[in-house]
Amino acid sequence: MEHGSIDAPRPPLMREGDPGGPPAVAPGPQPQRPIDGVVRCASCHRYPLVGEQVTRHIGRHGEEWACETCEREGRGRRLGAVTGGDRVRSLSGAANVHRAV
Ligand SMILES: [Zn+2]
Repeated sequence: MEHGSIDAPRPPLMREGDPGGPPAVAPGPQPQRPIDGVVRCASCHRYPLVGEQVTRHIGRHGEEWACETCEREGRGRRLGAVTGGDRVRSLSGAANVHRAV
């Protein structure tokens, strides 16, 4: 009977590679962040403002964003499946804006 058996945690990745060879590891898909002036609504082609909610779609052309208005009016659906959403942030600042008091 097993009683108080300890499971040793295994390493999550056992890389069976040939030593000396370059690791043939493709970089995984990075979650792209909507950035002001970079992300553009694929439906109405305008640039959402900082703080605006955008929805990410994956369609035939890859990753595309839909602005809040287009999403609400159903135009975003044509872009493909919804894979997430985020708020547009400024290029320099991060998610939180520092307030100089
Ligand atoms: Zn739009």
